[in-house]
Amino acid sequence: MLELAIIGGGPAGLSAGLYATRGGLKDVVMFEKGMPGGQITSSSEMENYPGVAEVKSGFDFMMPWQEQCFRFGLKHEMKEVVCIKKVGNHFSIMLSDNTEVESKAVIVATGGSPKKSGVKGEDVFWGKGVSSCATCDGFFYKGKEVAILGGGDSAIEEAIYLAKICSKVSVIHRRNAFRASPITVERAKAVPNIEFLTPYGIEEIVGNEKDGVSGLRLKHLESGEEKSIAIACLFVLIGYQVNNAVLKQENGSSICALSEFGEAIVNLKMETNVPGLFVAGDLRLDAPKQVVCAAADGATAALGAIEYIEHHK
Ligand code: NAP
Repeated sequence: MLELAIIGGGPAGLSAGLYATRGGLKDVVMFEKGMPGGQITSSSEMENYPGVAEVKSGFDFMMPWQEQCFRFGLKHEMKEVVCIKKVGNHFSIMLSDNTEVESKAVIVATGGSPKKSGVKGEDVFWGKGVSSCATCDGFFYKGKEVAILGGGDSAIEEAIYLAKICSKVSVIHRRNAFRASPITVERAKAVPNIEFLTPYGIEEIVGNEKDGVSGLRLKHLESGEEKSIAIACLFVLIGYQVNNAVLKQENGSSICALSEFGEAIVNLKMETNVPGLFVAGDLRLDAPKQVVCAAADGATAALGAIEYIEHHK
C-alpha cells in the first residue's frame, strides 16, 4: 500500500510531492497521465513567481520542479485516475487500465481549466494575446488597450482590475443584461476607461504570428452592424471548469463535500470532510488560480498528510 497518492502533476501536485518525500513519507506516487507541469506550461511568459526574477515560459519554469521532486524519491506513474474510493481506513485509486492502487492518504490536485469561447483565432493566439487570467497577464499590457469577453462577475471584476493597469478596457458581452451582480456592474460603469459593447459577439480575433493580437472584428447581435477595434489582448472570462471527475462515485455523488460550482470544500489545512483526503490547487474552493498559491496549497496538504499518516499508524 502507498503512503500517499497524489493525483495531478501541476504546481500543487509537484509541491505536495516535494514536501511529502522530503518530509519522510515512503512510497509516494504522483499519478499524472501526461507530462508533469500543469496548465501553466502553455503560458508563454511567467514573471510573477516570487524569487524568480528571470521571465521564463511556463514550460521552462516548470521543468526543474519535477527533477527536484524525483531527487527526493517522488515516483511518477503516467496513468489516468478514474475514481477515488474510501475503503475502510484507506483509499482505493481506480485507474483507467482497470487496475487499483491502495493508499493511506490522497491529495487531489487535478486543477481546472477556463472555458473557451470557440471564437475564430482563439486557439491560434492563446497565450499570445488571448488570455484567461487578468492577474497573470494584465501587467504585460500595461498602458495598452485590451478587451474582455463575458458578462459574469469574473469578467466585470477583472475589467475593474485591468482598468487600473491598461489605458482602456472594452467589455464585450452578448446580451444587454449582465449575469454579474448589479453593484459590480455599476462600479464598472463608473470607471471612465471601461467601455461596454453590448450586445456584441466576436467574429474574429485578428493578428499575426510575430506580434500576436492586434484587434477584434465584432458584430452587433441585433443590427448585424460590423466594426473592428484595435486591442493588444483579449481576456476570455466566460466561466471556469474544475476537474473534479475523480471525486465522483459510481452513484453520481462525490466522495467529499463540493461547492455549488463543483469545487472541493477544504479547511486551511487543505483537508476535505473525509479524513485522509486532501485537495490542493485550483480544484479547491476559493482558489486564487495562481502558481504560487497552488504550490503553497500542495505543501500545506503534504504537511497535513504526513500528520494524518503519523496519527493513523
Ligand atoms: P458566469 O457567471 O457563468 O458568467 C459567464 C459569462 O460569460 C456570462 O455573461 C455568459 O453570457 C458569458 N458567456 C458564456 N459562454 C460564452 C460564449 N461562448 N461566448 C460569449 N460569452 C459567453 O462565469 P464567471 O463570471 O466566471 O462566474 C462563475 C461563478 O463565480 C458565478 O456564480 C459568479 O457569481 C461567481 N463569482 C463570484 C465572484 C464574487 O462574488 N466576487 C467573483 C467571480 C465569480 P450569458 O450571461 O449571456 O450567459
